[in-house]
Amino acid sequence: MASTDVDQDTRPPHLAIIGGGVAGCAAASWAASHGARVTLFNAGLPLGGACIHVGTFPARLLMTAATDHHRAAHPRFAGLHTEAGRPDLSKLNDLRRKTSEELRNAYHHTLTTRPNVELVEKPAFFIDSETLRAGDETFAFDHVLLTPGSHSLWPELEGIDDVTPLAIASLGDLGRLPESLVFVEINDVAMVYAQLFARLGTQVTILTEDREFFRRHHGPDAMEAMSEIVSLEDIEVHEEVALKAVHSDGDGVVLQGTRGGEEAHWHTEHFVVVDHRRPRIEHLGLDEAGVEVDEGGILVIDESLQTTNPRVFAAGDAIGRGSHAYAAAYDAILAARNAIFPSRTAGHTTAVPFAIYTDPEFAGVGWSEHRACRAGFDADTAVCPLDELPAACAIGRRRGYVKLIRDRRSDRLVGARIFAPHAAELIMELALAVRYGFAVSELGAFIHPPISLGEAIGRAARRFTPASRPHAGRPSP
Ligand SMILES: Cc1cc2nc3c(=O)[nH]c(=O)nc-3n(C[C@H](O)[C@H](O)[C@H](O)COP(=O)(O)OP(=O)(O)OC[C@H]3O[C@@H](n4cnc5c(N)ncnc54)[C@H](O)[C@@H]3O)c2cc1C
Repeated sequence: MASTDVDQDTRPPHLAIIGGGVAGCAAASWAASHGARVTLFNAGLPLGGACIHVGTFPARLLMTAATDHHRAAHPRFAGLHTEAGRPDLSKLNDLRRKTSEELRNAYHHTLTTRPNVELVEKPAFFIDSETLRAGDETFAFDHVLLTPGSHSLWPELEGIDDVTPLAIASLGDLGRLPESLVFVEINDVAMVYAQLFARLGTQVTILTEDREFFRRHHGPDAMEAMSEIVSLEDIEVHEEVALKAVHSDGDGVVLQGTRGGEEAHWHTEHFVVVDHRRPRIEHLGLDEAGVEVDEGGILVIDESLQTTNPRVFAAGDAIGRGSHAYAAAYDAILAARNAIFPSRTAGHTTAVPFAIYTDPEFAGVGWSEHRACRAGFDADTAVCPLDELPAACAIGRRRGYVKLIRDRRSDRLVGARIFAPHAAELIMELALAVRYGFAVSELGAFIHPPISLGEAIGRAARRFTPASRPHAGRPSP
């Protein structure tokens, strides 16, 4: 009896995770390496979920290929003679599928070689507040983390059931390069696909009612950067568009609606509906578990990502706060920690960077200038345009900039935006600086490798006027 009590007191907590996308996999690895026993359920998409199989990863791979093709057609350096034939999209997509599969296998290997992780490749749902079912088996748990992701909904458009619209997720499965593509609305990944198809030779048009998407999500710099990309790539953007109907006309589809209030129509080989994503939570048996959703169908969670059942937490796309891989993995680890330890951390979300994998890439971290001012900082900015940089001249990529946002009172960096090749890699130095409260004077003193793009960070940091109050400094290590 006594030994049973001891066993119960010291046994590792059992965390069940529903959904093996980037959120669920990150949480499973983290929880297992912190002593928990983990059961990870995944079904539907293979391990790795949307990011690896239909989202950012395929978009990035295809963008890299499209950029190689574009460079072959437009060499950057005098003295080179290259040319580009017609791209074979079917071969590119075969490669994309093979590489996604390799990543799925790597996730599988990492998780299943841990003695304290059980992988169950079946859909799971609650049968009561203490039990899950997957297939014929039931599972007890101490805590559950919900990371089932999201799925897309078609917009209400007359005739949509009689045509074959494409979701962004299916662009990576096209067997042949289309002559023309119309994107209905726009977001980060749609922008990547729009640019990559334009580079492969497709005539691309974006129809949008919401011309402010990039400004609302990432600030005015992102909006300007994306506008620059569409004009460079000859992508047509039609704003103030309201679509009413769609029909097939034999060699494609015709979209009908209004543009700026005037009747308009567009003919295209394919049209792509930019995802209206909704949490994939309807088959989880949430009522049985006492997990509430609000009137809009979104999980009710607190700052620590706990649901209305104290043993159940949620993270990733399932919580309906947007659809971003970086936030999904970050939140999932936070939720796992709050589930298995007696902590209720809300995290440091301002230091989570984002990236849009266009060419050049756009990446950011922390506050935009406008939001920093609204949050009470005395914000000012300093910019280093890439065309001032020896590295940019050497690699033939002069378009873009590094912009730093600091709080003048403390001299600390509170945000950064980069529009440059490899912006997603460059931003990490600035994410650390935001997270650990570096002063811009400290950043300016760092030496970057000579003739590197990172030199733009040092140059921008040195452009700030001295802080109005000297930086208090951080404790020495
Ligand atoms: C087309 C597309 C493009 C994107 N582009 C970008 C981008 O450029 N940048 C960016 O940051 N983000 C992007 N995203 C968003 C990013 O992919 C998601 O934010 C991220 O993948 C969410 O991860 P997740 O783990 O929460 O969900 P998911 O990746 O959806 O994983 C959930 C997993 O759980 C499984 N599952 C669901 N229900 C159950 C159940 N009951 N039992 C067992 N398993 C279940 C699902 O099948 C899936 O495998 C994109 C998404 C899409 C679809």
